[in-house]
Amino acid sequence: MEIEFLGTGTSVGVPMIGCDCPTCTSDDPRDRRLRVSLLIRYRGAHILIDPSIDFRQQALRAGLKTLDAVLITHAHADHVFGIDDLRALNYRQGAMPCFASAETWQNLYRMFSYAFGPPGPSSRPRLVPHTIGGDCTLCGLHVTPIELPHGDMTTLGFRLNDFAYVTDCCALPDAACERLLGLDTLVLDCVRYKPHPTHLHLEAALAYIARLQPKRAYLTHMAHDIRHAELAPQLPAGVELAYDGLRVAVPSEAVLPASSSN
Ligand SMILES: [Zn+2]
Ligand SMILES: [Zn+2]
Ligand SMILES: [Zn+2]
Repeated sequence: MEIEFLGTGTSVGVPMIGCDCPTCTSDDPRDRRLRVSLLIRYRGAHILIDPSIDFRQQALRAGLKTLDAVLITHAHADHVFGIDDLRALNYRQGAMPCFASAETWQNLYRMFSYAFGPPGPSSRPRLVPHTIGGDCTLCGLHVTPIELPHGDMTTLGFRLNDFAYVTDCCALPDAACERLLGLDTLVLDCVRYKPHPTHLHLEAALAYIARLQPKRAYLTHMAHDIRHAELAPQLPAGVELAYDGLRVAVPSEAVLPASSSN
């Protein structure tokens, strides 16, 4: 399995409009963060986690030509406002399966009513909705959805074999931690240094990493107070800051289908 960080920035992106801080004016390409999104390549299949508001740029940069599945963590704008740009892939391949929780689908049907209502003369994104309620097998990967608190919303983290993507959460409940043991690679929310009402901050993220003991961890969803060259050298061994365009190979054995494909 290979993962590619399509975006690693918080909801407003970095640089932030109108800001002259050292990160927003940095020359370091690792300080330029599109909104969070991740691409998984596995045995010729492509799985996208969150069609971010920057999806078009991200897909062009990644050379994306097809998507076998889209997983959605939750329906905040930064994570789903790229849904309309999935049309370009629909033209090439037709409709694609999309997996989200029942709560997220309620929001998506409302936010993208034009895409799910009766067809009209204009083109629209074509997604085949699947409600993900438990473990499933996707493109040969064992997928475990993990419920996480995120303000007044519940986000899904996703474990795929020994890789997990966990963003937009203010805590990892015990039930979530149990599902995140024995990981090779964990990608974890880390919005800033100071505590945040709906996200993990640095100290909390590092504490969970110490508890879960993945072989390695990458921090993502970072705001502009995190400057890559400043924080990266201070992190514990095995913990790194993600950056846009970073590709990481994750050792991953195929898992036999465990339950339904939905
Ligand atoms: Zn977010
Ligand atoms: Zn700034
Ligand atoms: Zn969010």
